[in-house]
Amino acid sequence: MVVTTADRKSDVQMLLYGFRLRGIDAHAHDKAAGSADRWAILVDPAQAERALASVESVWAAILDTDSARTPDGRCVFCGYDLSGIPDTPGGNLICPECGVNLRSIEARRAWREGRRPRQG
Ligand SMILES: [Zn+2]
Repeated sequence: MVVTTADRKSDVQMLLYGFRLRGIDAHAHDKAAGSADRWAILVDPAQAERALASVESVWAAILDTDSARTPDGRCVFCGYDLSGIPDTPGGNLICPECGVNLRSIEARRAWREGRRPRQG
């Protein structure tokens, strides 16, 4: 089953390495150019639960930020001043202006790549 997707070869290598460090045997399926995320990272269904529990920390090691915030605490997508905005109980940080979860992997990847986060 697919545990995450990636569009950079370097991310694919880091994801496979991160899963391997956790004892999870993942492999990459190349969906071919043109897909939004070209590679699907797959694991055996027997390891799916562990892989899904690890995916956040595997990506966190690749994306060296914990949220898509500027150094002075603004949303990187709309510029909203996030001072005083608490994390939700689930550990998300939702921008009140544009609605993006700034702690999500997708938001952190989008910021790194200079694009808007994809929906869903
Ligand atoms: Zn925003």
